Parts: sequence; structure tokens; C-alpha cells
Amino acid sequence: MFSVGVRSCVGPVVRRPANFRLASTLVFLEANKDGKVAQSSLSALSAAEQLGNPIKALLAGSNSTEAAKQLKLTVGASLVDQIIVANNEVYDNYLPEAVTPLCLELLKEKEFSHFVVASSAVGKNLLPRVGALLDYQPICDVTKIVDPTTFVRPIYAGNALATVQCTQEKKLVSVRASSFPACSAGSFDAPTLEAPQVEIAELGVAWESENLVKSARPDLGSAAKVVSGGRGLKNKETFDKLITPLADSLSAAIGATRAAVDSGFCENSLQIGQTGKVIAPDLYIGVGVSGAIQHLAGMKDSKVIVAINNDQEAPIFQVADFGLVGDLNEIVPELTKKLTK
Ligand SMILES: Cc1cc2nc3c(=O)[nH]c(=O)nc-3n(C[C@H](O)[C@H](O)[C@H](O)COP(=O)(O)OP(=O)(O)OC[C@H]3O[C@@H](n4cnc5c(N)ncnc54)[C@H](O)[C@@H]3O)c2cc1C
Repeated sequence: MFSVGVRSCVGPVVRRPANFRLASTLVFLEANKDGKVAQSSLSALSAAEQLGNPIKALLAGSNSTEAAKQLKLTVGASLVDQIIVANNEVYDNYLPEAVTPLCLELLKEKEFSHFVVASSAVGKNLLPRVGALLDYQPICDVTKIVDPTTFVRPIYAGNALATVQCTQEKKLVSVRASSFPACSAGSFDAPTLEAPQVEIAELGVAWESENLVKSARPDLGSAAKVVSGGRGLKNKETFDKLITPLADSLSAAIGATRAAVDSGFCENSLQIGQTGKVIAPDLYIGVGVSGAIQHLAGMKDSKVIVAINNDQEAPIFQVADFGLVGDLNEIVPELTKKLTK
């Protein structure tokens, strides 16, 4: 199932490699245009901390000097030993064709035993490319770090967990942000170094534009509370009429099933599940959601799950902590009214 150097195992923890003392971890961090480091990258840092190696953080793009400053004001303990900045606009938007040569140049250094990225759209774009060019098998979507060579990751849409032991010289790891808390708040100081200049050949791709949805709501990927709507809402009007006020009353993010997205109830960036976002909020409320395995794969790690469905046999009730069996058109307005009070 896994290629050379990586195997699944259940059993005793492996020994750390002999050169462990020399090991160090390179963490690739994403930041927005204002230099704010992404929440998922702060989770990647806290995952990297568990590896126990000295950490070097890599920031790339024309915002990277500002991002380095902000990182030092964001992260608590002196988690990061060194910040490497690649201040070049070619890295803006993190096109993997541009960023990969930079990562490869840094990973040539023997000291880097681990390369950690968040399992975000950027990380998912970058890691396989780095893995292919280094001829190393990446270990993707890690939810638990057992030790520096042993990782747990979900397989079969989250229906099973594989414990993967990696004997490769360098471990290339992407981590699920929902499984690692963002590193603690505070400030630290660490030297900032310029990344080596890397020759980037003709990219063959160009960044055209982006169309970001601006919303005052918490981000779905990191929100503490999520209200999620399904096909049971029947149409976009009901979705907006019932889900939005309920989410407002809880200051929650809004999510949806693929069926709701495909039916045009909301935009597809709100999809939760195997082919959508993976979330683990403190509270998840599913309204008119059946609980198909592909949806559960994206929300079953939520701390408290509430399901509202008129079919008491719906699979969502098997994972729900609280179930309300009945018509969502009656339950949701009543619940919203009570919560708003
Ligand atoms: C490869 C693949 C990947 C997929 N990826 C995803 C994914 O990432 N995310 C995802 O969500 N799905 C995904 N799906 C689709 C998934 O299989 C389900 O089809 C989908 O999750 C169902 O969405 P739903 O629960 O909204 O709809 P349904 O399954 O149709 O459920 C609607 C529910 O609403 C209830 N209901 C109806 N009327 C009312 C009412 N008046 N009051 C209360 N309850 C009511 C019904 O009892 C029912 O349980 C994927 C499928 C495949 C094959």
C-alpha cells in the first residue's frame, strides 16, 4: 500500500535515528497579503514542535518580511529557532511550480530531517511535487505524531486510521490543522535569514486572479461553532432563511453538505467532508443532513454534534451527541429564537 521506505504498522514505538541530535525541521508557513500567518500554518508549527527537533520556519513571497515580524509577535514560546524569508514576488500566491525549487534548495541541507506543511490547498499542491522531485513518499493528512518517525493518518475517507512508520532520510509531512491546536499566543525572538536565491525556470503557468468571499463570519476551517445545512432544507431560500439566523445567534461559521452545494444553496467553499473542508469545532449543528460517510469524514471529530432531522434512522444520529427528531422548519426558528434571547 505504501511505497518503499514507508510502511503501515501497529505496535511498538520505533527508536529515534542515530543522527537525531543533528535533525531539524523545516516548516513551510503561509501568510496573507498583510503578513498574517494562516491559522493552519500555526497548527503546522505546533505539530512540528511535537517532533522535538529545532524548527526553522520558511516564509515566501513579497509579504514575507512583514510575515516574519508578525510571526514573532504571534507565537508564544521560542518555538522557532530561525525564520527564513524568501522575499520575492515570484512566490506570491504560492504557485507550486515556483515554491518547489526553493523548498528543494533548502531541503538539500542534511540537517533537515523533516519538512512540515499544513494540509491546506497550498500544502496539498506543494508536498507531492517536493516528494516526487526528491523521490520520497510524502505522508499526508497526519492527525497524530507518535514519534519523529511514526505518524497516524486517516484512510478510506476517515473510516480507518493507518499508523505509518517512515524510514526515509527525510520525512515529508502534511498535517491536518483540525488535529493540532494553533501554537500558543505570545511573542519570541529569533534570527531572520534571507533564503538562497533560486533560479526559477519558465513556470508554464501564471496566476490570473482570485475572487475571495469577504465575510465577517468566522472562517469555516477554524471556527469554534459551525452550523451546517443539508439537502433537507430543500432550496436556497430556506437555507438562507433558517441557517443564517441560527449561525448569527451563535456567532458560528456556516457549512454545508455536498448535496446542498451541488443544489446551489450556497457556494462550494462551504462544503464540509471528504472532498470539502475537514473541521473539528467545539460545536457542530447539522440541519437536514443525513450523515453520509463522505460528510462525516469532514466533521466527525467535532467535540459536540447536534443533529436536526425528521428521519430518526438517519446515520447522523449515530455520531450525534444531541438529536432533535422533527421538521427543521419548526425546530430551527424555535431554537434560533431561544438562542437569541
Ligand atoms: C466521491 C464522493 C465524495 C463526496 N464528498 C462529499 C463531501 O465532501 N461532503 C458531503 O457532504 N458529501 C459528499 N459526498 C456526497 C455524499 O455521499 C451525500 O450524498 C451527501 O453528503 C448528502 O447530503 P445531505 O445529507 O445534505 O443530503 P441527503 O442525504 O439527501 O439528506 C437530507 C436529509 O434531510 C432530512 N430532511 C428532509 N426534509 C427534512 C425536514 N423537513 N426536516 C428535517 N430533516 C429533513 C432527510 O431525512 C435526510 O436525512 C460525496 C460523494 C462521493 C461519491
